[in-house]
Amino acid sequence: MEPAGRGEMWQAALSVAVSLLVFAAAVPFAKTPLLQIPAFIPMYVAALVICDLITAVLLFGQFSVVRTPALWLLASGYLFTACATLAYSFIFPGLFSPSGWFGSGPQTSSAMYMFWHSGFPLAVIGYTLLKGYTTIPGPLRRLGLARPPIAMACAVLGVLLLVAGFVLFATQGQAYIPMFLNGNRTTDTGRMFLFGVWVLSLVALVAVWKKKPHTVLDVRLLVVMCVWLLDIALAALLNTGRYDLGWYTGRIYGLLAASFLLIVLLIENMKQYQRLFQLSVKLGAANKVLANLARHDGLTGLANRRYFDEYLAEQIAIASRFHRPLALILCDIDHFKDFNDHYGHQAGDACLKRIARVLQSCSRRPADLVARYGGEEFAFILPDTGLKAAARMAEEMRCEVSHLAIAHARSSAASCVSVSSGVSELVPPMKAPQLIAAADALLYHAKGLGRNQVVSAWANI
Ligand code: GH3
Ligand code: MG
Ligand code: MG
Repeated sequence: MEPAGRGEMWQAALSVAVSLLVFAAAVPFAKTPLLQIPAFIPMYVAALVICDLITAVLLFGQFSVVRTPALWLLASGYLFTACATLAYSFIFPGLFSPSGWFGSGPQTSSAMYMFWHSGFPLAVIGYTLLKGYTTIPGPLRRLGLARPPIAMACAVLGVLLLVAGFVLFATQGQAYIPMFLNGNRTTDTGRMFLFGVWVLSLVALVAVWKKKPHTVLDVRLLVVMCVWLLDIALAALLNTGRYDLGWYTGRIYGLLAASFLLIVLLIENMKQYQRLFQLSVKLGAANKVLANLARHDGLTGLANRRYFDEYLAEQIAIASRFHRPLALILCDIDHFKDFNDHYGHQAGDACLKRIARVLQSCSRRPADLVARYGGEEFAFILPDTGLKAAARMAEEMRCEVSHLAIAHARSSAASCVSVSSGVSELVPPMKAPQLIAAADALLYHAKGLGRNQVVSAWANI
């Protein structure tokens, strides 16, 4: 998890400051009764459930990558709020049935509200306690909880059982529930319990604040817990009961608290996607450069020996398969060692580069390949080219190199740098080694004949 920067801290401080201002403005009017809009609850519940569910999915997504128990618990906490909110809507009077489903009584929905509002801070407190653990502990790992699908399935099952258990208690065990509401008004007992829930949320807020260093997620949780505290204060403590200004504003706060983390998670996801896209573009470009480097010679820029070997094998396979001609020219600079000795290595390099450029310019067809075969040896692969045409090309190359007129005082072959070539043609079922050996033998022959010349013959001589 990324540590929080100054930007995130300021953002969080600003969000809390704005929330406090709105809270301060709403407090004096918290008890003002407003129009009863029963449709508000289903709208609010639907939005809350969707926000919390998506947040839980995103957090479980992060858990499947980092696999820390703290994140698992927080994601479970969001899943819990989603399920508890849904259950709250089922038992809220007048929503699905006049008194609420599952035989709920006058205190059921208040009890459910307290359960729902205690569960989330408890999950947040658990999150802070587990923050130090970077992996799932050994015993849980042995139960398979380190595997995200199993961990998530356990979370879903656990949350469903917990919520179902509480719904059962709140509906069937009404005799054990104190009187929280009298009509639409909160009783003193209700207020006392709600204060307890509020204190629990405060403990959660302090727990997140105390557990430093703060990650980006921690800072966002601080905002969520602050808004959550304001929600309970307005909608349950400072108001009189249902459908007054405090009740409505508190619920809107609840919605803000739920959507806040969701929105920042979505923005983060978008940024990660952008980063991923930019990285994949960079990676693609870097791969192209690497592939090019792996196939080309650093000094001359011609294809290197590795690429030559690959390409020759490929072209021999094609030529043999389709009964097409294929020629190979091996070309070697005459007395190049003497050139180096006389003019120096750097001059030798410059000479190699100029000759490479000339040879490259002699290759005209897209399928032709010029490679640096060795130190001062070059090779031409000429697909769809017969021996005569290849020999003509080798002769043309020899002339072009002579035209460069690079002085070579120590050559016995000419007054300037010259090349000798051997030209061979593929005769099936020949393979690369035989074709190269044939061209090499002819090159050796050209050297023996006095250099600065081309020798060609059938490759199977
Ligand atoms: P021959 O006419 O028989 O081919 O004689 P040669 O001197 O050209 O042949 P030899 O194989 O004896 O020497 C090849 C020389 O090429 C040796 C080395 O100094 C030079 N050489 C090989 N690679 C490079 C290079 O990258 N840069 C430079 N400057 N010289 C190179
Ligand atoms: Mg040579
Ligand atoms: Mg050589």
